[in-house]
Amino acid sequence: MHLSNQDTIAAIATAPGRGGVGIVRVSGAKAMAIAEAVLGKTPKPRYAHYGDFWDANGKALDQGIALFFPNPNSFTGEDVLELQGHGGPVVLQWLLERVIALGARLAEPGEFSKQAFLNDKLDLAQAEAIADLIDASSQQAAKSALRSLQGEFSAQVTDLVEQLIQLRIYVEAAIDFPEEEIDFLSDGKVAGQLQHILDQLHRVFHSAQQGVLLREGMSVVILGRPNAGKSSLLNALSGKESAIVTDIAGTTRDIVREEIQIDGMPLHVLDTAGLRKATDQVEQIGIQRAWAAIEEADRILVVVQAGEDIDPEDQAILDKLPKRIPLTLIRNKIDLIGLEPKLQSTDEQGDAMRLMGHEETVVWLSAKQKLGINLLKQHLKTVMGFAQTEEGVFMARKRHLEALQTALHFVETGQQQLESYAAGELLAEDLRQAQNALSEITGQFTSDDLLGRIFTSFCIGK
Ligand code: GDP
Ligand code: ZN
Repeated sequence: MHLSNQDTIAAIATAPGRGGVGIVRVSGAKAMAIAEAVLGKTPKPRYAHYGDFWDANGKALDQGIALFFPNPNSFTGEDVLELQGHGGPVVLQWLLERVIALGARLAEPGEFSKQAFLNDKLDLAQAEAIADLIDASSQQAAKSALRSLQGEFSAQVTDLVEQLIQLRIYVEAAIDFPEEEIDFLSDGKVAGQLQHILDQLHRVFHSAQQGVLLREGMSVVILGRPNAGKSSLLNALSGKESAIVTDIAGTTRDIVREEIQIDGMPLHVLDTAGLRKATDQVEQIGIQRAWAAIEEADRILVVVQAGEDIDPEDQAILDKLPKRIPLTLIRNKIDLIGLEPKLQSTDEQGDAMRLMGHEETVVWLSAKQKLGINLLKQHLKTVMGFAQTEEGVFMARKRHLEALQTALHFVETGQQQLESYAAGELLAEDLRQAQNALSEITGQFTSDDLLGRIFTSFCIGK
């Protein structure tokens, strides 16, 4: 049980800067009194009042539209007042100060959404989806965030929790009647239910994984000798000229970051300084940053010149790469040797020995002529398991994936308890743990600490 706060909160709900309209949002018990003072009259529920917004002396400080939503039929579940004025920073700040002088306090980041959660207007996954919808970097991400906001994800999680509870009640009943326990557990009903829950958990996990990918994307690092064509590749992928391309080795001294979309999957690309021995200090810093970036990468793209062998300098770098990170070997500049773009496994190429220990693929392309770039994009989507279809994908966060994973773990362990030992009590405990893990997603079972972390990552006014 989380206590709802008693304060009346206020914030500018529209983005900072200038716009046609700007909104000051107020939520709490004083919203009505504030409305009366600012409008000079009692607002009608859900009615658009057009007129002046008054300062303390009854003089207009702006004019606009006021909307009043009495509790519980509002976003937060409390009395809510929306003052839609002109979208300039000075006017809005002035209006906000007026509202605060009338007894509201400045809202904390995410506090409106938190209030909505505390008043059961939204569950936690839905509240998070609001932030994800606002932050969405592609239409696919926005669509799936809306799906989560509308409760599709929560409904599936709630359904799973419900099934876990039902099954646990059944198993616990068996434990309470020990003479019948074996029959209960071996009649196939429990095993069947467990399998059903497990299958559904896997499906939800898969959808959530797509959601996390839509939200967080894939991160790749481009490595290779100076002049291999790393910057050219980054530019070809992004369609922009953000990295400097020159013939002078060592031009890219620091990391260049680029955000690209591949069919809705955000791709974070880092072009690094060549990882050769640095002669000056600036270059040295670039190299350190490159190694730090490599640690965080989902995949490394190693660029070498087509037709040339991997030289000892490349090899020394390849040997130092963390083996857990998969590689794609890019054979660039195929235009120089008259080849067609292609994608293949390294076994055919004889590079397997050199790249040993990594999961790897070879792509032949020309960064400069932009040949084979789509092939590389397709390959990156495939290796991340990014599904083309957006059907049924809902927005999710790493936090949700971890909870689903924990639930999967407990249901699988429970299944073993049943199969190997017919251990009803242990199974019941595993079911309870799985249920708790899932309840964290929707927030039925969540610490104040977690709530704090989630909502403070929102911006003010949400
Ligand atoms: P980096 O040092 O690895 O970042 O390499 P750059 O992208 O700066 O490229 C080095 C040089 O190779 C430049 O002159 C590029 O124009 C050239 N280059 C890059 N990619 C290709 C390619 O696919 N074909 C050809 N012919 N030249 C390329
Ligand atoms: Zn470069």
